[in-house]
Amino acid sequence: MKPLILVIDDSALVRKYLGNVLQKSGICRDVLVAEDGQKGLDVLRRVPVDLVVCDVVMSRVDGFEFLSQKNESPSHDAVPVIMLTSDQALESKIRCLDAGASDYLVKPFHDEELIARAKIHLKIKDLQDQLRIKNEELGRLARLDSLTGLANHHHFLETLKKELSRADRHEAPVALGMVDVDYFKKVNDTHGHQVGDQTLLAIVARLRKSLREHDSLGRYGGEEFGMILVNADSEGAYLAAERCRQSIERSPIQLDEISLPITVSIGVATTSNPSGETVTDLVARADKALYLAKGQGRNRVVLSETSDLDSPIEL
Ligand code: GH3
Ligand code: MG
Ligand code: MG
Repeated sequence: MKPLILVIDDSALVRKYLGNVLQKSGICRDVLVAEDGQKGLDVLRRVPVDLVVCDVVMSRVDGFEFLSQKNESPSHDAVPVIMLTSDQALESKIRCLDAGASDYLVKPFHDEELIARAKIHLKIKDLQDQLRIKNEELGRLARLDSLTGLANHHHFLETLKKELSRADRHEAPVALGMVDVDYFKKVNDTHGHQVGDQTLLAIVARLRKSLREHDSLGRYGGEEFGMILVNADSEGAYLAAERCRQSIERSPIQLDEISLPITVSIGVATTSNPSGETVTDLVARADKALYLAKGQGRNRVVLSETSDLDSPIEL
């Protein structure tokens, strides 16, 4: 889509003239106009403008005030501004650039020069927008597991760290559940890796459905998932984990012709208040509980009640 340009000038005549010049040049899809800096800021807040052409001297909010207020806002900071000044003096040009303008033109200027400069700044803006989108995408990819779309190991632990410190601040409990699929190797060995992958996706869908909105699910490792249960004391965390376990056990996972009875084992560790526990402590306790769940026959939830207890208990 072609860009949008905003012209800010207190002269109606100039606004109309510049609007016509820019519109006729074909470099934008539309030209918006504002009669002073304040009105210009209002337009920026409402419309995703790609370039501003702004007069320096205006009676109400002038070009410098406009620039300074615009650049305070992170969402408008990247919008380039070409200042129009009637002052030939070097200091005046430098003041425009120092104030955050991308460029300036000294009046009177040729229309062709305005168009040529507008083109350059629109091009730079477009490249910057593309770069920002790619960076956001890369950031997303770096945080997510490619098969399930869940938080990957690193991002999951980061989230857990944040939730632990939030829980400490609010003196609220938080619980970590470690879910490991029982005898999963057999699924791969019997049906192949692709069916194994589809099974993992089906397991994730069931776990997601069983969790509350504010809880988090991450892929901790191959067929092992982590659940962060916010505001969950021992009893609440146990019930949530049990709900997850039952959601898997309740009915076989159906993949085309194949019906797979799957179960999971879950180790749960909850914090006491204030816990002072590190992520490593909590993971170690949840892992230990998971290990016990496996040892006690699988398809069960084992709770490691508090960090003071030496041995986890099964409810
Ligand atoms: P246990 O009940 O003791 O947990 O037995 P298990 O077979 O689940 O455990 P084990 O650790 O022996 O095997 C885990 C299997 O999970 C082996 C590995 O190939 C499989 N696995 C890990 N990640 C993936 C994946 O992304 N896709 C598929 N298809 N399989 C995976
Ligand atoms: Mg397993
Ligand atoms: Mg495992």
